[in-house]
Amino acid sequence: MITAYIGIGGNLGDRADTLRKAVAVLDGEDEVRMVAVSGVYETAPIGVTDQPSFLNAVLQVETSLSGPALLNRLLEIERQFGRYRKKKWGPRTLDLDILLYGEEVIQVPGLQVPHPYLHERAFVLVPLCELLPCGRHPVLGKQFTDFLAQLDSDQGVRRVGGLSLWAHQ
Ligand code: AMP
Repeated sequence: MITAYIGIGGNLGDRADTLRKAVAVLDGEDEVRMVAVSGVYETAPIGVTDQPSFLNAVLQVETSLSGPALLNRLLEIERQFGRYRKKKWGPRTLDLDILLYGEEVIQVPGLQVPHPYLHERAFVLVPLCELLPCGRHPVLGKQFTDFLAQLDSDQGVRRVGGLSLWAHQ
């Protein structure tokens, strides 16, 4: 079993409901066990700024799936929730990214792990540091908390109180 960290987000429709349902689907997989779910953060859009704000969180799972097999499952779940994505960094109902897959470095067509933007984005680093406060980037070697401390701004990331994505925590 490998411990993987998955970024989850969305900015269309009933965002909390979509994220909650996606967590339940992933938790129901035979080859995936949900271990922990971070708090939920409301995040100003990056790149294309003329779109609704996102809800983001990070999931810690244990899985017997390979990295590519896990990605395929995540892409299927995105499709199941009617993911709509016309342009890069544009609005989407559900976005699932593999942030970390154990300490492994994966570079195959269509999959790069650690996720290439993970260390630059507050909406990933803040919830990731909640779950993995002493974690270190497997390639860059620095602690995630150091990347977070060195960002220019908080990038508009705000904790949403009283919202939980997983019933079992
Ligand atoms: P985006 O919608 O911008 O998150 O991009 C999704 C595409 O990025 C997927 O179809 C994957 O093939 C590719 N991709 C590359 N690395 C990763 C990763 N670590 N996690 C999720 N998707 C990835």
